[in-house]
Amino acid sequence: MKIGFIGLGNMGAPMAANLVAAGHEVAGFDVAGVTVEGVETVNSAADAARGRDAVITMLPNGEILRAVYGEIVEAGQTGAVFVDCSTVDVESAREVAEMAQRAGLLAVDAPVSGGIGGAAAGTLTFMAGGSDEAFAAAKPLFVIMGQKAVHCGGSGNGQAAKICNNMILGITMIGTCEAFALADKLGLDRQAMFDVVSTSSGQSWSMNTYCPAPGVGPQSPADNAYKPGFAASLMLKDLRLSQQAAETAEAITPMGARATEIYERFVDQDGEGLDFSAVLPWLAKPAG
Ligand code: NAD
Repeated sequence: MKIGFIGLGNMGAPMAANLVAAGHEVAGFDVAGVTVEGVETVNSAADAARGRDAVITMLPNGEILRAVYGEIVEAGQTGAVFVDCSTVDVESAREVAEMAQRAGLLAVDAPVSGGIGGAAAGTLTFMAGGSDEAFAAAKPLFVIMGQKAVHCGGSGNGQAAKICNNMILGITMIGTCEAFALADKLGLDRQAMFDVVSTSSGQSWSMNTYCPAPGVGPQSPADNAYKPGFAASLMLKDLRLSQQAAETAEAITPMGARATEIYERFVDQDGEGLDFSAVLPWLAKPAG
């Protein structure tokens, strides 16, 4: 396939490289002038979109995504599939899908989980929203860049799935960190705490797979001085998107709101550049 790739950052660059390695012809554009081996560098987003069978975007936020779609939908070739893998607000995802469809294109919102490691290894999970036809057209690309793609329904539903998942993750990580901090004060050994909770009803991915306590459980960013992993600032971004969506949809999410406040304080005080599980040493500090 001829593929255009717009946004060659931490995630986009290795994803584009995997498409090249699978034998596709990839043309790439990034405002920062990033180049990726094997990817033909073009001079504009419109050039990356023109004459391609598929166009993938991997951009920082909804505002930039809408601006980029304003430049690329007219350049798109009729019937091409436009796949946005950025994490953005549900409304922007639906707006750009409509722009693409009006221009005779297929549109899929397909945010990912798996982070930079998953992007490099080609093991991302895609949460996709769009028509059956659009999902089918994008699927061969998901198979190369990831290990799983779930079709979640119409346009915007991929983003909806992503922010609901990450709202749970933020809440359970804070709960897990709070419980460790409480256990410390009660004189309960962290290893004993892990052994009980990871096999009891308090278990979660945050405890069992990504334990925030160093030296306990499987290897995680806690064992690497809380180097991300999944940065606290990205968790904050996703929690804010969840609250924006909850407000628009009039959904009641008090724990999501509280988790957002806690990550705002954490990132502001201590958490910039750290993994989102570093809430544990922050909460466990004597001053709290
Ligand atoms: P990044 O900042 O490294 O990359 C974004 C790239 O987009 C940058 O290289 C930037 O120069 C480029 N860009 C900005 N405006 C542009 C424009 N108008 N035209 C072309 N290029 C433009 O970010 P990232 O970590 O690669 O994340 C990308 C997206 O993936 C974000 O929406 C993020 O929330 C999401 N995401 C990231 C991770 C992660 O672990 N990094 C995990 C899951 C999802």
